[in-house]
Amino acid sequence: MDDDSELLERLRNGELALHELEDETSPDEAADIRRRYIEEQEDVSLAETGAEHDSEEATANIENAVGATRVPLGIAGPLRVEGEHAEGEYRVPMATTEGALVASTNRGCSTITEAGGATVRILKDAMTRAPVFRVSGVGAAAELAEWVETNFDTLKQAAESTTDHGELVRAKPYVVGDNVYIRFAYSTGDAMGMNMATVASRAACEVIEDETDAHLVALSGNVCSDKKPAAINAVEGRGRTVAADVVLPRSLVREKLKTTPEAVAEVNERKTLVGSARAGTLGANAHAANVLAAVYLATGQDPAQVVEGASAYTTASVRDGGDSLYFSTTLPALELGTVGGGTRLPTQNEALSLLGVAGGGEPAGDNARELAEVVAGAVLAGELSLHSALASQHLDEAHERLGRD
Ligand code: NAP
Repeated sequence: MDDDSELLERLRNGELALHELEDETSPDEAADIRRRYIEEQEDVSLAETGAEHDSEEATANIENAVGATRVPLGIAGPLRVEGEHAEGEYRVPMATTEGALVASTNRGCSTITEAGGATVRILKDAMTRAPVFRVSGVGAAAELAEWVETNFDTLKQAAESTTDHGELVRAKPYVVGDNVYIRFAYSTGDAMGMNMATVASRAACEVIEDETDAHLVALSGNVCSDKKPAAINAVEGRGRTVAADVVLPRSLVREKLKTTPEAVAEVNERKTLVGSARAGTLGANAHAANVLAAVYLATGQDPAQVVEGASAYTTASVRDGGDSLYFSTTLPALELGTVGGGTRLPTQNEALSLLGVAGGGEPAGDNARELAEVVAGAVLAGELSLHSALASQHLDEAHERLGRD
């Protein structure tokens, strides 16, 4: 019996668990044998799944590997971005199975670029983690809140002892009866920073438990708020808070987007602002999640954080007596990085290289901020294109109905 057959046999008779295969052989072999075992047990072919994968590369990012899921990759752009960290034209990698998304974003990119580019600014930059403490009651809760404020420097020192790049910039307490949530906010350099913030917060929590009567219940108390739709992120920001805008001449709106500033502004008001308010959405946009999900998959971001990123606000208004369209998108909670997590995987790293932001920046944080500005510009492009498509359809219908041009 060769080694593979022996391992398969041990899986079959329950001597070996699927997750123990890496203890016996290389990650690539382990993925191969695991896949063959599952094919045999479930009477299914996973040939495509196994065709292209590199488990050696992926070991830090996946457990129980059996292969890889392929998602088509397209490129939108060039997109001109006039930011403080991103300046120039970018080709935006988008991984998606949704036909028309890249084409639509591409149309937005080319319109924005022709207008001179998107102006983009990062307004806030802080990743949060909010542990929950149990205290005896509201008196003790108020005391703890005050203690945190008075002892911020001690907490900062403890938190920053765990990281070279993380800096604690705020510690804001929230009280609910005998629960105290401390929302720690960190500048995280080029990392998205969730692991970094969690490790640093643990060190700060140890100081709080040593110095006060508070008892740590959970390192994450959901006021963070990670991967859940939450007003706190839309209001206070999480990760990078980024705003992007562009002013388009009427002639460009007509020529490239086949509509008018008035029609885009009406769609924005009635659909994006009023419709979203009526529905109670977090944020008010047309499809920010679409562009975010595609760019996140392409560049190795944590895809679940599209949840926070999607609470974006898009506005449009007619300017200059009708001569131009002002269009903007503000993303309160854009969580991304160029180091750590999935950014080190080969294809994702190539996509970051295409944008010129792979790895750590000089100085640290510069690459992630450049990426944040480009992504905000790409979301702006997606928003502009979809608003315009809806507006031009509305115009077509109006023309048809009214029988005039
Ligand atoms: P990470 O891979 O855990 O850490 C990145 C590390 O890179 C930092 O700790 C930092 O070391 C180092 N580093 C090197 N050069 C850097 C630079 N220029 N800027 C910043 N850091 C640099 O990544 P992370 O961003 O903290 O966390 C992302 C991962 O967390 C993703 O895989 C995501 O899925 C996962 N995640 C975790 C949680 C959680 O609760 N733990 C929640 C959501 C997602 P130093 O710290 O020593 O500076």
